[in-house]
Amino acid sequence: MSVKADPCSQPSLMHPDQAIPLMLEQVSPVSDTEVVSLPHALGRVLAEDLASCIDLPPFDNSSMDGYAFRFADLTSEAKQTTLTLIGSSFAGHGFEGRITPNSCVRIMTGAPVPAGYDTVQMQEETQANGDQIQINHPKAKGVNVRCQGEELLQGTKVLKAGIEINAAELGVLATIGVSQVRVYRQLKVAFFSTGDELRPVGSDLAPGQIYDSNRYSIQGLLSRANVEWLDLGVVSDDPEAIRHAFRHAASQADMVLTSGGVSVGEADFTKQILDEEGKITFWKLAIKPGKPFAMGRIGKAIFCGLPGNPVSSMVTFYKLVWPILNKMQGLTPKAPLMLSATLTTPVRKQPGRVEYQRGILSRNAQGELEVAITGSQGSGMLTSMSLANCFVQLEQFQGDTPAGSQVTVEPFNSVLC
Ligand code: AMP
Ligand code: MG
Repeated sequence: MSVKADPCSQPSLMHPDQAIPLMLEQVSPVSDTEVVSLPHALGRVLAEDLASCIDLPPFDNSSMDGYAFRFADLTSEAKQTTLTLIGSSFAGHGFEGRITPNSCVRIMTGAPVPAGYDTVQMQEETQANGDQIQINHPKAKGVNVRCQGEELLQGTKVLKAGIEINAAELGVLATIGVSQVRVYRQLKVAFFSTGDELRPVGSDLAPGQIYDSNRYSIQGLLSRANVEWLDLGVVSDDPEAIRHAFRHAASQADMVLTSGGVSVGEADFTKQILDEEGKITFWKLAIKPGKPFAMGRIGKAIFCGLPGNPVSSMVTFYKLVWPILNKMQGLTPKAPLMLSATLTTPVRKQPGRVEYQRGILSRNAQGELEVAITGSQGSGMLTSMSLANCFVQLEQFQGDTPAGSQVTVEPFNSVLC
C-alpha cells in the first residue's frame, strides 16, 4: 500500500473529523416531546429514562417442558430418583395445590414453578410410569428455572433517553407493561432538487436532460432516518424560483435540504439568496465523493445543500446530514461499526481526500472478511451504491492500494440498506 504524506494536497480542504463537530455545533436537539402508544413508537427517540415497575421475570418460571420438584428430594447417592406426580403447571394456569415431600409437577415452558420447588428436569431426562416419574438427576439445584427478577429488578433503569426505539425496545417496553412512551417531536425536512436539466420520472427527456434521481434517494434516506418529509419537487436554476422555494421550505420544516447548485459557479445563486435570506457556509471537505457541501440557516430552519452528483449526494447525506439530523432528533451519538477486511481488488486513489469507495463485504471460505470494490467509482454512478453493502474508507494521504491489503470497511447501516 503506498501511503504518501502529500503536503501539496489541497491544504484548504478540511478533514471530515474536523468539520463534522463544527457543523454539529450549529444545531440543537428539539425540545418538544409527545406521548405515543407503542404501535406508533417505532423509530422515534425516547425522551425520558424508563425504569421497570415490575421484576423481570415477574415470577419463577420454567425454561423447559418437564417436571418441577425440590432438589433436596433427590436421593443423594443415586443417579435417578422416582417422584410422585401430583399435578401440572401450564403457562397462564399454575399448579394450585400444595406440594408434598418426594413429589413433582408436570410443567410447561413459561409456567410458574410451584412454591417450594426449585428445580426443573427436562422431559427428555425423565421416564413416566403412571404417576411415578423417574428423574435423571440434573447437575445442580435451580436448573431450568428462570428466577423472579433475574433479568432486572423493579426500579432498575431499562431504557435511556436518547435511544432510538426499534423492534427490541418495543418488546422491552411491552415486557415491563408500558403502553405509551414520551418521545421527541418528529423532525420535518423539506427538500427539493435544483437544475434546469432535471426532469421528473414519468416524463420524456429532451436532449441534454436527465431524470431527477436524487429526490428519490433522498426521500428513501429521510424515511429511513425516521423524519417526516416534504418533497418540493425540482426547482430550476433561477434565482427567484430558488428564493421562493427556500422561503416556502423554511416556513414548513426544521431542515431545508437541497441537491445540486453548490459547486463553484452555481453556488453563486444559493449564496446570494441565503446571504439575503439567512446565513450560509460553503464547506470544502477533504472527502470523495462529495467535496462541496453547504450548510446554513434560513428563518428557523437549518439548511443543508448536497452536491448534485447522485453518489456524492448520498454520501454527503450519510456522512454529514444524518449526524446533524441525529443531533436535532435528540439521539445519543453512536460510533459506527468499522471493520477490517482484506481487499480482493486493487484500489486506485489519489492522496489528498478521505475516500468512501463502494464495496461488497463478504466472508471467504476460511471465514475471513474480504471486500471487493464495486467497479467504477464515478460520483455519478449510482449503481455502485446499489451494488454495495459497505464503504471502503481510504484515509486522506493513502494512495493506490493493491489487492491483499487490509482496509477499513464501514458496513451500510439501516439508513443505507
Ligand atoms: P451540480 O451539483 O448541480 O453541479 O450537479 C452535478 C451533477 O449532478 C450534474 O451532472 C447534474 O446533472 C447532476 N445532478 C444534479 N442534480 C441531480 C439530481 N437531482 N438527480 C440526478 N443527477 C443530478
Ligand atoms: Mg446543477
